[in-house]
Amino acid sequence: MNIEQLFENNRNWIQSKLKSDDQYFEKLASGQQPKILYIGCSDSRVTAEEIIGLEPGEAFIHRNVANLVNNVDLNVMSVINYALDHLKVDHVVVCGHYNCGGVKAAMQSADLGILNPWLRNIRDVYRMHMDELNAISDEGKRYDRLVELNVEEQCFNVLKTAAVQRGVRERGVTVHGWVFDLRTGELIDQKIDFQTKLDKIREIFRLD
Ligand SMILES: [Zn+2]
Repeated sequence: MNIEQLFENNRNWIQSKLKSDDQYFEKLASGQQPKILYIGCSDSRVTAEEIIGLEPGEAFIHRNVANLVNNVDLNVMSVINYALDHLKVDHVVVCGHYNCGGVKAAMQSADLGILNPWLRNIRDVYRMHMDELNAISDEGKRYDRLVELNVEEQCFNVLKTAAVQRGVRERGVTVHGWVFDLRTGELIDQKIDFQTKLDKIREIFRLD
C-alpha cells in the first residue's frame, strides 16, 4: 500500500465534501450529536458507517475483535458510559458478522497467546448454548449460529450496564442485535426479544 496515496485520498475527500457544502467542516467542528452507538468487529470488511449509510457525526463507534462487550474492559465500558450519559444516544447496536475470524478462532482448540483471555468470552457463549450448537451437524451453520448467539450475549452485556439501564428507564433507549452477511452485503436485524429474555434475569442484573 502506498501511504502517500492515503493523503491524496484525504485531499480529494475534502474537496468532494466542500463541493456539496462549503460550510461542511465548520459544521463538523461545531460538535457531535450522534443518535446511535454502534459496537462492531474490527474486521476490515465490516466498515461501520459505510454499510449503514451514515456520515461523520451520525454514529458513535466502538470496534474490537469479535464485537465483545466485556464487563472489565475499561475501553468499551467508557464508550458506553460516554455515549449514554453524555451524548444521550437513543439506540445501541451490537453488530456481528458471519465469517468472523475471532469467532472462528474461539471454536478451535489452539493456544493463541494474548488472544486466549479475549476469545474465552466467546467460548463462554458457546458453553452457555452448547446443547443448541452441538445439535447443528453442519460446521458452517454452527459457526453462523455462534456469531448470532455472540451478538445476543453481547447485547445482554450492554443491558447489564448501569448507563444503559438508566437510558432505558429515562428515555426509552433501545438495544439492537444485528449481523452483517459478508456473502451478500445484507444487514440482518436479529429482532431479539429482550423484554422476555430480560425478565428472567432482571432480578440478578437490575442496578436501580
Ligand atoms: Zn469479526
